[in-house]
Amino acid sequence: MSTQTSSDKITRGACPHDCPDTCAWQVMVQNGTAIKLVGDSDHPFTRGVLCAKVDHYLERVYSPERILYPMRRVGAKGEGKFERVSWDEALMDISGRLQDIIAQNGPTAILPYSYMGTQGLIQRDAGHPFFDRLGTTRLVRNICGSAGFAGSVVTNGISPPTLPEDIVHSRFIILWGTNTVVTNLHLWPFIQQARKNGATLVVIDPAKTRTAAQADWHVQPLPGTDAALALGMMHVIVQESLYDADYVERYTLGFEPLRERLTEYPPERAAQITGLEADEIIKLAKAYATTRPTAIRTLIGLEHHSNGAMMHRTIKCLPALVGAWRERGGGIIGGPAEAFFRSLNIAAVRKPELEDQNIRSVNMVQLGQALTSHELDPPIRSLIVHSSNPAAIAPNQNLVLQGLRREDLFTVVHEQFLTDTARSADYVLPATTQLEHADLLWSWGHKYLTLNQPAIEPLGEAVPNTEFFRRLAASLGLEDAHLFTSDEERIRTLLTSDHPYLDGISYEQLEENGWAPLNLPADYCSLAEGGFATPSGKCEFYAESLIAQGLDPLPTHVPPKESPVGDPELARRYPLMLLTAKSALHFLNSSYANLPRHLKAEGAPHLDLHMDDAVPRDIRDGDQVRVYNDRGEVKLRARVGNRIRTGVVSMPSGWWASLSPGGSSANALTADGLSDLGGGGDFHDTLVEVEKVMQPVVTG
Ligand code: SF4
Repeated sequence: MSTQTSSDKITRGACPHDCPDTCAWQVMVQNGTAIKLVGDSDHPFTRGVLCAKVDHYLERVYSPERILYPMRRVGAKGEGKFERVSWDEALMDISGRLQDIIAQNGPTAILPYSYMGTQGLIQRDAGHPFFDRLGTTRLVRNICGSAGFAGSVVTNGISPPTLPEDIVHSRFIILWGTNTVVTNLHLWPFIQQARKNGATLVVIDPAKTRTAAQADWHVQPLPGTDAALALGMMHVIVQESLYDADYVERYTLGFEPLRERLTEYPPERAAQITGLEADEIIKLAKAYATTRPTAIRTLIGLEHHSNGAMMHRTIKCLPALVGAWRERGGGIIGGPAEAFFRSLNIAAVRKPELEDQNIRSVNMVQLGQALTSHELDPPIRSLIVHSSNPAAIAPNQNLVLQGLRREDLFTVVHEQFLTDTARSADYVLPATTQLEHADLLWSWGHKYLTLNQPAIEPLGEAVPNTEFFRRLAASLGLEDAHLFTSDEERIRTLLTSDHPYLDGISYEQLEENGWAPLNLPADYCSLAEGGFATPSGKCEFYAESLIAQGLDPLPTHVPPKESPVGDPELARRYPLMLLTAKSALHFLNSSYANLPRHLKAEGAPHLDLHMDDAVPRDIRDGDQVRVYNDRGEVKLRARVGNRIRTGVVSMPSGWWASLSPGGSSANALTADGLSDLGGGGDFHDTLVEVEKVMQPVVTG
């Protein structure tokens, strides 16, 4: 509810970003201007704290760099020169150009591009019914989460996870490939509580992240080898009879074939694959199997590999093997995303029945390939972007930029700032921030549903994504009623559900309180006695479903495609594995990477490399270096030390090429292949070489 005092108004809302924490916030408004924004102290997960990325959100809202009016390109593509036009002028021209393209090549010559620039349910999905109505090429929006999800589903189905708050009950916690204090900050106090209660915290990560630096035990495998680590652990657990024979007997499928498979992964072999010591694997396996309750938390760090789904699938076998699901605080920690999607009436707004599955699709990971392809028929002639900045976040950046700069590509970008993507647009249209529009927020990190209410009027001529598509639909002469429903109608429709998880939650109640927990049963995570949501109803060590997809039905280690083992010839030229991690504390993916406060706080991007890799290359701490492979190069400063293991280098993701030293950022190097399952990216399967640069690097 917006509460009015004499001169103040406090509006409740939520952070829109692609982050599991989905913080609830309150905005103080005076005379129509937002003057303060704070985390909601009553919210059990936010606890009054916003992260370093967002706690100056008002600077984003009122930034002089905001795009507040429609703009038409007047310079060359990518030059970033525009002139102000009216909405009417812009829409008339855009609709005319789209109609011409449709008449000449059909609607599939148009490609939508959007992702989690906002994860609010109505603003994120605002374009779907519009594009489905036109019959454009479909975008596979799988850049994050999909490979890990697909792999986990093979083993455990879409079974309810152990809720994050329950981690306080754990006594042995493995954060596996996740930098919690940077990307899942609000889980950290619960982990600290568990540690006060006696829990041991293990971080498995090739890099010594801020989280790893605070762990009791940091395990540093080579990237892409985590399945081998899990298999080595399982080998020890089975060989030493530390597994839960009763749980395995009752609630798992395929233990005998798994046991056979594990003979291939004695700790010595797992050590050779992972670059760890066999003793460490043995110690980890024993500690994991003998401490109760024991929990594993994974996020997306693991999945961006050609073997990403198999790594998740293999790791997710561990809890059933040791019977970790039996106790509260045991198992796999995860947000109840499935509960939101099961209970909210999303189909009534999204209208999936209007999406023609026979129409071709383009995977968002491979945008560069799609825009430069000579084989696509018809070619992509128009790109319509909202809630995403593919010039920064999509892999194989140089190919993406080459595509975006095609003179014959008609690009429309709905944005808050002149991103590197928007710089290549024909039209840039002004988008509202979270303070200026309504939305309903789910979460993939906790169980709270949040209503975001607009705190202020839209600045300039900015409009929400929903209004952008209403205007575009009208200018194209479309009349379908569902394209024109208001934002409030859409939110109310989402809540129109008799699912018990939404019992007691109404629009009015959310207006009043801002947020509400889903009404999950006390035994929401109910795998203590099996009941996995797999075809067999059991945890599937052996998964028949994988055979049809050309994969091994048993957990296995497959070398990453671009790695010293996966491609020895390539590795001779480019011997170092590159991680492009979400390590920038003040950026959220590519958001905030243009704002002065955040850029200043980050300083300059740096390449972490180990002393053992630096010395043979005559690279010292602080030297300027060139990181390169066949796809491109990035120039930045070296940070030599022990923040990354040998054989691996790491640089932060999120930087915009136009604002980076040397004019390119991490994705100039990354691979644009797909994961083994789920259609995710394999951009951590990237090999590079590094050399010292003598001349100073020019900042873009
Ligand atoms: S980015 Fe995440 S942690 Fe930061 S305020 Fe938003 S939801 Fe909270």
